[in-house]
Amino acid sequence: MAQPVVVIENLVKRYKEVLALDHLNLKIEEGEIFGLLGPNGSGKTTAINCMLALLSFDKGSVKVLGEEIQPDSYEIKRNIGVVLQNVAVFEELTVWENIDYFCGLYIKDKATRKAYVKDAVEFVGLEEYQKFFPKKLSGGLLRRLNIACGIAHKPKLIILDEPTVAVDPQSRNRILEGIQKLNEQGATIIYTSHYMEEVEQICSRIAIIDKGRKIAEGSKEELKLMIKMGEKIHIDILELSEGQLADIRRLRHVYQADYAENRLSICCNGGKHNLVHILDYLQKNEIGFGRVYSELPTLNDVFLEMTGKELRD
Ligand code: ADP
Ligand code: MG
Repeated sequence: MAQPVVVIENLVKRYKEVLALDHLNLKIEEGEIFGLLGPNGSGKTTAINCMLALLSFDKGSVKVLGEEIQPDSYEIKRNIGVVLQNVAVFEELTVWENIDYFCGLYIKDKATRKAYVKDAVEFVGLEEYQKFFPKKLSGGLLRRLNIACGIAHKPKLIILDEPTVAVDPQSRNRILEGIQKLNEQGATIIYTSHYMEEVEQICSRIAIIDKGRKIAEGSKEELKLMIKMGEKIHIDILELSEGQLADIRRLRHVYQADYAENRLSICCNGGKHNLVHILDYLQKNEIGFGRVYSELPTLNDVFLEMTGKELRD
């Protein structure tokens, strides 16, 4: 079997009194789009910086592409593409020149480099802006340039730290599609975000972190099965008595029911036919109802149930 691309064991990182990583363990296999999902301050960037040996740590080990990574592990670093959270490009260079500069750190052959830079420009959709200087680009376009600079040398492992923060929807979609395409072309991807929708959309496996600790890991389907909630049902009802609400709370598989602003909201665990049982009760008791809809749990529900707080602050 292919060896994991990244193995992090018992990683501990402190910034003075702040414990940023608390015995973090991660294993990322070749070919994955691995999502690191956690709220602001949960330790995502710190974990990435340790993976790149940009930051020293207090305890544990980090292996990348089979070796303990060190600040001077240039051979390993050639195979990594990094897109950091803060855009880092040269103001004095145009879009093309910026990408060419970063690509040139790894690709010395001129013709190959030209082809790679062209690929990267097309990849992020900056064809029309090749001669622009960064300060002329919108936030979304600047992020795309930042990505192009990180991936132009066609690395095996691509690490992106919140690449879509403060990006317009069009650029965001372009970025997400681009990441999937890079993965299809063979790159292993590590993607950090505090946006659960994005992580759900593109990641094959997800680790949820909070306060520097991994609280759960799996595919999005697996993560959702880890919690009690299987389904959330909302029903618009004009009038419901306390007694009726209590009855509903006693229905099978219902573990929470609230009635507010003419809406009944019910959380059910994984049982089948929950909606049928509830509608059955309403009909038998001649309770009129309007719109009915049900939702499956989101990764926010997973986070909420495991930590008692919302993923977003
Ligand atoms: P995330 O990327 O998930 O938002 P970070 O890794 O940036 O989280 O931060 C994790 C924790 O470490 C936070 O509590 C943050 O305030 C703290 N932290 C990050 N960088 C530093 C630093 N250079 N000095 C002191 N504390 C830091
Ligand atoms: Mg961060």
